[in-house]
Amino acid sequence: MAEYLTENFSLQEMIRSSFATRKGLDNTPTARQRESLVRVCEVLEEVRSLLGGRSLFVSSGLRKGRVNDDQGGARNSAHKRGLAADLDNLPNGNYESFLQVAPYVLRREFPVDQLIGEFFLPDEPRGGWIHLGLADEQKTPRYQILRAAKVGGRTRYLVWNDPWELA
Ligand SMILES: [Zn+2]
Repeated sequence: MAEYLTENFSLQEMIRSSFATRKGLDNTPTARQRESLVRVCEVLEEVRSLLGGRSLFVSSGLRKGRVNDDQGGARNSAHKRGLAADLDNLPNGNYESFLQVAPYVLRREFPVDQLIGEFFLPDEPRGGWIHLGLADEQKTPRYQILRAAKVGGRTRYLVWNDPWELA
């Protein structure tokens, strides 16, 4: 029986990691990480409603310690604390969905610290993925809209600087 953190999001989908399974790494949440995952799922419920109420595929949630670091995640990634989710294969396309969600973050209707368009390619609306990260409970979210891109072979996080597309 799947255990749900919120109505539509299960604990299992927020902690599963094929990398961890393959490498034999532990990805079991602590009580605190679990509480953080619940907060993420509460925001995901709002995103899900906004995008039409269909299922959202979480490609990555919690990535504890080496589960994150050994597969090249950012050292300070919110995934390590259970404060982030990556969304992929979205029904309306990842890029279109990103454009739908971003204004709600900018207007501070969704308590998101960083919404990142990861490696979107203009001619591939289903490429890339969306990273949604929350602030630690005692911190104020930054409501940042960023995009990740490879610049000179390195990942750079740029400010999303095209307000017309977000309007
Ligand atoms: Zn992510």
